[in-house]
Amino acid sequence: MTSTIAGKRYPEKFGWRGVLEEYREFLPISVDSPVVTLLEGGTPLLPAPKLSDRVGATVFLKLEGMNPTGSFKDRGMTLAISKAVEEGAKAVICASTGNTSASAAAYAARAGLPCAVLIPEGHIALGKLAQALIHGAKVLQVKGNFDAALRIVRELAEIVPVTVVNSINPYRILGQQTGAFEVVDALGEAPDVHCMPVGNAGNITAYWLGYKHYLEKGRANGLPVMMGFQAEGAAPIVVGHPIADPETVATAIRIGNPASWEGAVHAAEESGGRIAAVSDQEILAAYRFLAREESVFCEAASATAVAGLIKYGVEPGSKVVCVLTGHGLKDPDLAISQIEVPEVVEAELSAVVDRLSLQ
Ligand SMILES: *Cc1c(COP(=O)(O)O)cnc(C)c1O
Repeated sequence: MTSTIAGKRYPEKFGWRGVLEEYREFLPISVDSPVVTLLEGGTPLLPAPKLSDRVGATVFLKLEGMNPTGSFKDRGMTLAISKAVEEGAKAVICASTGNTSASAAAYAARAGLPCAVLIPEGHIALGKLAQALIHGAKVLQVKGNFDAALRIVRELAEIVPVTVVNSINPYRILGQQTGAFEVVDALGEAPDVHCMPVGNAGNITAYWLGYKHYLEKGRANGLPVMMGFQAEGAAPIVVGHPIADPETVATAIRIGNPASWEGAVHAAEESGGRIAAVSDQEILAAYRFLAREESVFCEAASATAVAGLIKYGVEPGSKVVCVLTGHGLKDPDLAISQIEVPEVVEAELSAVVDRLSLQ
């Protein structure tokens, strides 16, 4: 297992050491804990001038698509897999709308652990499926949605010796706190408002925990208002009851019965924020806006954060952070569905000049 003990292998002068080493004092690891890392975290907090103009605030985008497997899931997975190794796990398993499986497969491979994945049949982006498979996970497509897959994973873990690395694994959420630490470190303070998508609700739970943790440790002097956004067709927390057949173009948050439901409600209530819904049209409009105006290609689920910011607004002049949870390249089919297919022309200068209005 060559990837362990990252701190000794990647001295500071070589740059970022991954979230466990960078934030060791805030996480449940000891000097002897194995560290399975792909040097996740340290993601950019990109100013968003056009979006700022549009909403009358100062908006930053936390580019979580820049993580090793292209989503924020790596922050929790490095801790969950490191702990699985420390505790002598023989295998790991997860249910996934895609990104958890991509991340679990990569970190398990790094640790030399077998990884099993249950995904909802036909409802995960091809890029994510490709990731899980190429990293060597055993993938099964379940004839049901994410909630059904997670139920089976929970039941399975009762009868076979396997570690669940969904966000019901507490280490996932503890690791994901590092997103909040980085935001505060980059801004020098907590933002006024924090916007993010809500699916299984682990990440909003983690960010709120992280912001409070940093405040307690004297690393921040305030807390943001937490704004979580669900897709209209998959908005159980907004409507107040589980949804049997969640439906949304944002497949990463196509979840009808979030495992961390209470964590999300708590974050919204305690911070003076809210959990609200946006339509698929609003999500796709934000997705295109981010690509065209801010040059950021994110997942549809990620654009939900920005759709919510645009729809519900903030106090003028607020400092706002939107977490863009995953990379747009994971789902090229969706991007292609949102643009016009390029025209085919003869291989002649005149034909090209005629079609491009550059003069
Ligand atoms: C997992 C995921 C979400 C939802 O996060 P939760 O912790 O389940 O609420 C949002 N966007 C992307 C890209 C994801 O992979």
